[in-house]
Amino acid sequence: MNEVFDGAIGIDLGTTFSCVAVLLNDQVQVIPNDQGNRTTPSCVAFHADDVLVGDAAKNLVARGAPGIVYDAKRMIGCRFSEKSIQEDSRRWPFTVKAGEQDRVLIEVDFKGEKLSLSPEQISSKVLEYLKHCAEKYIGKRVTKAVITVPAYFNDAQRDRTKAAAAIAGLEVLRIVNEPTAAALCYGLGIGSGTGEQQGKEKAIDVVVFDFGGGTFDVSVITIDAGSFAVRATAGDTHLGGQDVDSNLLKYVADNLMAQHNINIHENTRQLAKLRAACEKTKRALSHSTSEELVMDGLLPGGDEYTINISRAKLEELNAKLFDQCIAVVQKALKDAAITPEEIAEVILVGGSSRIPKLQEKLTALFKGKKLCGAVNPDEAVAIGAAVQGSILSSSPEQQSAKTADVVLMDVVPLSIGVEVDNGKFDVIIPRNTTIPYKAVKEYSTVEDYQQDVDIVVYEGERPLTKHNHKLGEFSLEGITRAKKGVPTINVTFSVDADGLLTITATEAAAGKSKSLTVQNSERLSDEEMSQMIEMAKKFQKEDSLQVVKEDTRHTLEGLFQEINTSLATMKQPPSAKLQKRVKFLPHGEDWVREKLDHYESVREINEKADKIKHLCDKALKRAQTGVERVPIEETQDGGRV
Ligand code: ADP
Ligand code: MG
Repeated sequence: MNEVFDGAIGIDLGTTFSCVAVLLNDQVQVIPNDQGNRTTPSCVAFHADDVLVGDAAKNLVARGAPGIVYDAKRMIGCRFSEKSIQEDSRRWPFTVKAGEQDRVLIEVDFKGEKLSLSPEQISSKVLEYLKHCAEKYIGKRVTKAVITVPAYFNDAQRDRTKAAAAIAGLEVLRIVNEPTAAALCYGLGIGSGTGEQQGKEKAIDVVVFDFGGGTFDVSVITIDAGSFAVRATAGDTHLGGQDVDSNLLKYVADNLMAQHNINIHENTRQLAKLRAACEKTKRALSHSTSEELVMDGLLPGGDEYTINISRAKLEELNAKLFDQCIAVVQKALKDAAITPEEIAEVILVGGSSRIPKLQEKLTALFKGKKLCGAVNPDEAVAIGAAVQGSILSSSPEQQSAKTADVVLMDVVPLSIGVEVDNGKFDVIIPRNTTIPYKAVKEYSTVEDYQQDVDIVVYEGERPLTKHNHKLGEFSLEGITRAKKGVPTINVTFSVDADGLLTITATEAAAGKSKSLTVQNSERLSDEEMSQMIEMAKKFQKEDSLQVVKEDTRHTLEGLFQEINTSLATMKQPPSAKLQKRVKFLPHGEDWVREKLDHYESVREINEKADKIKHLCDKALKRAQTGVERVPIEETQDGGRV
């Protein structure tokens, strides 16, 4: 197979299952794997002399074989010391350890050797396998792909996912958010930026309900003229179909104990087999109302063990879990400040969203609205990725009038900006701005004859930089010597399609320019990011009070300094009368230095500050009357006053 397919495939690289699709001749096709299955377990087995991937690897789990690695998506781009890794590692049957720079390494025994593999190496095996399935299906070599990741994935996680693809020999045209891909699958956003329709289409808000094997993600997305902005995400990284299985398994295990006095937990292999049987029964109960669970080799004497499970029983066992899911949807809506009535579409994603009881509860929450579930929910994300792949690849095979005009954009997860006077955070690119994006802001000097400016870059949602996350800093040196406020310094923030941030400061008059590129590894992790957003909400009132305090402090200190300068530049020492007039100054300065912090209301601060300002103005007028100023250039400290 030498001919290269010049289009791109779409891959949903899932935590428990992955799926690959392609758009050919205007038709989306989900590509089956070697076993004929349309989804593939994200599972890799290092077994005997073979590395097995997908169903072959998962089948070994049920046989209790060692050397099986899964959940690579939970490790990719994470640090070993992170809380989630520490907690997850307790339930993984494989060993993980810290590598260089706190990276996660997975240990496996293979061909008599101990291998230490990175999560991206594991994921690359899954990607390689899917690529191979696609090549067999299309009949050409595949080199390009669009891969999806959860909306909350940070730069490092996205970056490592790309690295996994590179190992598998795939060029990633774009990393797309899973909920965005799901919306694309339903044609949402496609065509809304075209021809006559342009400008007429209203923006719509949709909810993507993604309930998979081990994770649960709810996203609220605004789709506007072909662009997708994630408004809010909520969910649980450890809630999914596996928990539904566990609840059923516990019930069956209790029954085995009560009816046959068998403790299934004593036999790891049988337990794995029973868990697989429970999953199968659960899946069947999404279509039928009652199922027989059958297991052989369990009872003494070779009798089959059977138990009838009704859909009602499964629902009863999982009632709490289902309620929890609905509460998460409500939280996402609340975070996005949106009501269920305002949602145009509810999109079902993830195999577990097939559960009828959940669909019933969602229909009730969204007041009878029909749910988008026509496409197989475990294929929707891969299909959306394939649609995006066809848009991005210039392949005539994949070009279609329908998709030609869609521009897909991701967003900046946290606001980015610089520190300005007194530790305030000046946002240059607000959170949720679609990328790629470029913004320029003009700044100037704060002191006369200042020749260096420090550009300190932060990300975060709090108004004071001390509460935000510093991304880096640099100094622009040798700018034009002039009075404060005169030089023009342009600061450009640009974020490329992959989220990489570059900051450039330029002072054109002196021809000076300097840049800083923020490495993805320096950005906050998703955990820290959601914490930041929480904190910003929690401390909103305190923060705005702090800002008023800092502003007041800044203004008054400026005034005090001005008075002192005026006094110092008088030819004669200040008269006794004037000295008396500025006697309040020490009190004012004391207030700014010590007492201001204890004020708890903006009104009180403003009242007190106004009084001091009034006195300052009077003193200043007085001090400046008849003052003969010494030209600043001639002062002894080289011009700085
Ligand atoms: P991922 O979390 O990796 O994205 P999927 O979206 O493929 O995974 O979801 C896998 C989960 O969906 C598994 O827990 C599986 O048992 C569950 N599932 C698949 N089909 C059904 C069904 N018909 N009814 C209920 N659950 C299902
Ligand atoms: Mg999924």
